[in-house]
Order: sequence, then structure tokens, then C-alpha cells
Amino acid sequence: MNILERLDADQNWSEEETMLIDSVRQFATEVIAPNAAHYDKTSEFPWENINKINELGLNAMFIPEEYGGSPMSYSSYLACVRIISEACASTGIIWATNFHAIKPLIEFGNEEQKQRLLPRIAEGGLASLVITEPTAGSDATGMKTTFRPDGDDIIVNGGKIFISNGDVADIYVVFGKWTEIPGDKESISCLILEKGTPGFTVTGTEDKMGTRGSGTASLSFDHCRIPRANLLCEPGDGLRILLASLNKSRPSVAAHALGIARAAFTDAVSYMNERRQSGKRLLEFQGLQFNLADLASELVLIESWLWRVAKMVDNNADNIGIEASILKMRASDLAMRMATDAVQFHGGYGYCKDYRVERLMRDAKITQIWEGTNQIHRQLIGRSFLKKEKR
Ligand SMILES: Cc1cc2nc3c(=O)[nH]c(=O)nc-3n(C[C@H](O)[C@H](O)[C@H](O)COP(=O)(O)OP(=O)(O)OC[C@H]3O[C@@H](n4cnc5c(N)ncnc54)[C@H](O)[C@@H]3O)c2cc1C
Repeated sequence: MNILERLDADQNWSEEETMLIDSVRQFATEVIAPNAAHYDKTSEFPWENINKINELGLNAMFIPEEYGGSPMSYSSYLACVRIISEACASTGIIWATNFHAIKPLIEFGNEEQKQRLLPRIAEGGLASLVITEPTAGSDATGMKTTFRPDGDDIIVNGGKIFISNGDVADIYVVFGKWTEIPGDKESISCLILEKGTPGFTVTGTEDKMGTRGSGTASLSFDHCRIPRANLLCEPGDGLRILLASLNKSRPSVAAHALGIARAAFTDAVSYMNERRQSGKRLLEFQGLQFNLADLASELVLIESWLWRVAKMVDNNADNIGIEASILKMRASDLAMRMATDAVQFHGGYGYCKDYRVERLMRDAKITQIWEGTNQIHRQLIGRSFLKKEKR
């Protein structure tokens, strides 16, 4: 066993978790990985992969039992995200986005909302988390979408961009500003919009650098009438819901990034053991050994931190914001560096699409940008040490 295999073997999964992880690994190897280049090239949505994910009932692992789910630990969810993303980063984003989007409903929805909406996701529905707007990226409080109360309904007007699963979702968890509440932060509210709502349109999808099989959509809301029963918590509770949800989705983005990093590492090691120059295999050159040693060490350390943060979530730890920021930032920086170095180790071949590392380098980039750019995470981590000034 190499060090990464020993780290995996250390996880002490239960029998049920081992069975699940093994079946996801088998499906990822046999079905997802062989088609990843096709979905990258064509930008087609990988329905075959999603249908298979639903045959395995994977959405059910993050839905409570009373709403049609079959819940498993958060750690095992992260293990599945990593395995699926290692095989195809686009499929990883699509499935992980389901989790990111539905978590606010699980944590903050009332009984009636959960009974009505969660079984649809447990059975294989798709969900979107809808925050970003042209004027509101890193600073979500700049959003302009409005929620105007109108009797038993809420009228939604505005538009969103860069929404993962936005072109295919059944349920949209949308953030906007309550018109009757002043203040950029205080007014943010959250509601559920269902597919087919009159006035709701998908206005386009992005032609992206990487994760090309995953749709990233622009959405428009033109006087969408939403029943007030679809409001999560109370008007003005949106920012609280948003911040709490990010603590669960950022480790998931890290698992996605680590899947890409693992794939790049595997390809690099394999190529460096095969390719010969000057009568030696590449990995016999000390300069490349040093380079690979740094990458392997960082991978092991960041994966160890992944499992630590995962356990904190499983143990319902209170405040994991900074731990999650460190994990997301370091895992995504590593994914980018690992994929870039893997291309370099492949020389000219790495620059050509015949080798997977070319795609991995493009796929890795998004992990540094979404769910808070890494500049924002550095700011959050640094700021956490700022002492209060005595006045
Ligand atoms: C493929 C893809 C999928 C996405 N999926 C979703 C989704 O499902 N739902 C959703 O709501 N959004 C989604 N997003 C949006 C994503 O979260 C935003 O793109 C991201 O938060 C950055 O916002 P921005 O693009 O407006 O960049 P900006 O906020 O304009 O930032 C531009 C640059 O300035 C830097 N910057 C900004 N503010 C600061 C600061 N205070 N200090 C230092 N540097 C700063 C940033 O780090 C960045 O480098 C997705 C985006 C992409 C590309």
C-alpha cells in the first residue's frame, strides 16, 4: 500500500458505508470515468451518470429518513463526492450541488415544506442553490432580486447568473431581498421556487473552460408568483440560512477538488513510471522526485484535514467556518497546482487532449473560484485572528 491507500484504509467505515463506497467506486470506474472526455468535449449534460446515481439512490444518503431518505454520515458523503469527481469533475459538481442546495431546506424548512419537497430529491430530483447575480458575486449582499409580499404570495423579480444545475433543476433555493425590510443584509430572504413556475425562464448557459458537462445557467424571474408557504423561515432570515449552509457545502467543494487532485496525481505517477528520457524513467530524476514528494505530502495532509472537518460536522460541532475555509482554500489550491504540475510532468503530451491531465487542469480552476473565491477565504481566515480594539 502507498501512503494514500493507507490513509483511505484508516477511515474505519461501517459495513454499510464500505458497501456504499465500494459500489460508488465501481460505478465511477466502469461508467463515469470512461465517458468523462465525451461530456467535456460535447458539453452534453451527463444524464446517463445522473440516472445511474439515482438507480443507486445516492441522493437519499443526505435526506432524513422521515422524508424518504436513507441517511449516511457526512464523511461517507464526502468520500462519494471525491470518488465521483475523480472520475468526472462535471458529474461531481452536479451531484454535490444537489446536496449544497437541499441542505438549507433540510436545516431550515418547516415540517410541511420538508414533507412536500424532500421526497422529490430523495427519489432523484435535481436542485440548484441560487445566489449569484451580475452585481453580487463575492459580496452576496449586493443582490438586486426582490421578494415582494402580496397576500398569501410572494412576487419575485430579478435575475441570477452562474447557477449550477440551473438549466435542469426541479427545485431552486433562491435568495433575494424582502422589499418591506430596509438594509442590504437584513432584507435577504430565502424561498423555494419550483420548476415550471410562470415567469421563470432559463435565459442561457455558459460556454465554460472546464466542468463542461455541468450546466451553469442564467435565470430570469419576471413577476413569479410563489406561495408564501415556500418561504424558508421568516423574511430577513436569508443571510443566516446562507452562512450556515456554506459550512456544509465548502468541505464538499474541497472533496470535489481533492477528487481532481487524486486523478492528476495518479496520472502523474503512472506516466513518470513509464516515460523514459536519457535512459531513465522520469521518476528516477531527483528534481522530479522532490516535486512529486511535495505534492504527495500536501495531498496527504489536506485529505487528513478533510476527514477531521468531516468528523466535526458528523459530531454536530458548533462553529466550523474557519476550518471549512482552510479546507476549501487549500484543497482547491492543491487541485490547481497538482493538475498544472501533472501537465508539466507529461511534457508536450500533457498539453494535448489525448491525456486526461489536460482536462483536469481546466476542471480544477473552478474550485478556486466558487463557494467563495480563495481570496475571500484568505480574508476570512486572516480576519479571524483580528483582536478587538480597546476603545
Ligand atoms: C462554474 C460556476 C458555477 C457556479 N455555481 C454557482 C451556483 O450554483 N450558485 C451560485 O449562486 N453561484 C455560483 N457560482 C458563482 C460563484 O460563486 C461566483 O462566481 C464567485 O462567488 C465569485 O463571484 P464573481 O464571479 O462575481 O467575482 P467577483 O466577486 O467580481 O471577484 C472578482 C475577483 O475579485 C476578487 N475579490 C472580490 N472581492 C474581494 C475582496 N473583498 N478582497 C479580495 N479580493 C476580492 C475575487 O477573489 C476575484 O478574484 C458559480 C460560478 C461558476 C463560474
